[in-house]
Amino acid sequence: MAGTLKRLAILGSTGTIGQSTLSIVEQFPERYSVASLAAGRNVDEAFAQAVRWRPRLISMATEDLAGELAGRLRDAGVSGVDVAHGTEGTVACSTHAEADFVVSAIVGVAGLEATHAAILAGKPVGLANKECMVAAGEILTRAARERNVPILPIDSEHNAVHQCMRVGAHAEVKTIWLTASGGPFRQLPLEQFAGITPEQALKHPTWVMGRRITIDSATMLNKGLEIIEACRLFDVLPSQVRVTVHPQSTVHSLVEFVDGSILAQISVTDMRLPILYALAYPERPASTLTFDLAALRRLDFEQPDFERFPCLRLAYEAAEMGGAHAIALNAADEVAVEAFLERRIPFPGIARTIEAVLASTPEAHPATIPEVLAADQLARQMARQIVA
Ligand code: MG
Repeated sequence: MAGTLKRLAILGSTGTIGQSTLSIVEQFPERYSVASLAAGRNVDEAFAQAVRWRPRLISMATEDLAGELAGRLRDAGVSGVDVAHGTEGTVACSTHAEADFVVSAIVGVAGLEATHAAILAGKPVGLANKECMVAAGEILTRAARERNVPILPIDSEHNAVHQCMRVGAHAEVKTIWLTASGGPFRQLPLEQFAGITPEQALKHPTWVMGRRITIDSATMLNKGLEIIEACRLFDVLPSQVRVTVHPQSTVHSLVEFVDGSILAQISVTDMRLPILYALAYPERPASTLTFDLAALRRLDFEQPDFERFPCLRLAYEAAEMGGAHAIALNAADEVAVEAFLERRIPFPGIARTIEAVLASTPEAHPATIPEVLAADQLARQMARQIVA
């Protein structure tokens, strides 16, 4: 496909990953263009993106927001941009006839149906939404295998693993090592965890990210979700995925092979690189995202502290159980993080909420997306009751 234009559907276009993806399109106009955008709730940004990129279709979260955007586009004399809304609108974006590649970057399970629909439509997916893989990884990977549709991870760790995996056979992989920054509380005395404020938790040492994922980094639940994501994406057992705390966030992850060799991927901490890798795979376009090796002084790797970060232990438990427990891990966390940000529960309450929800979740293995969403709703209800 070298030399041909890839037309993108970007789900979550106004978010961090969506905007980074558009900056790649800006940089490589001969390689990428925009077919459709699922923009969510930010009408100002959606309007600016529609004017700049002229997608065939743009979708908003609700009918009201879609109406507002359509009115503004009409007033501005912009034609040829259809406006849709809701889950149907997102699915219409991800399956658009003119889209060759789908970037799935809507946070949470909101992007699940559209991602599944894209795979069913045979469209390669660049996956930044880890919740999709955690909640419905078995369904998505099976559908992708059956249709020979590539799923390329944009999550920086999994992107690194994907790169390292290319040098060996699947049976030669012993352990996937996911690196974790350890978040802002890696060295905070355990007795001070109860007093952590949302402001403190929202300050991430190395990455600039959305609010939920920043809190998830502070609890290391994010790494827990990534353990499950790795199991699904790379078809390995939970016991084959390990976490190493690497405060510099320079090595994005490592793969240890059975002969004892360990391969690591190093690059700048800039999400544009994993996005570019996913968009261009199997090619590697020249970019300006260079890493200054001369400035590299040290690389530290530490064992994660499971007492300080109980979410890691909970994630391994959910990974072993799979199905409804993986769904519950993600759903309960989303509710608990929201409650923490609204100061309704303390920081350690996030892990306690998840633990309680996991304990009351019956073992089940949803086989369809509606079943996944029902299990997700059930876990949310439980979490809301526990938080209250
Ligand atoms: Mg990550």
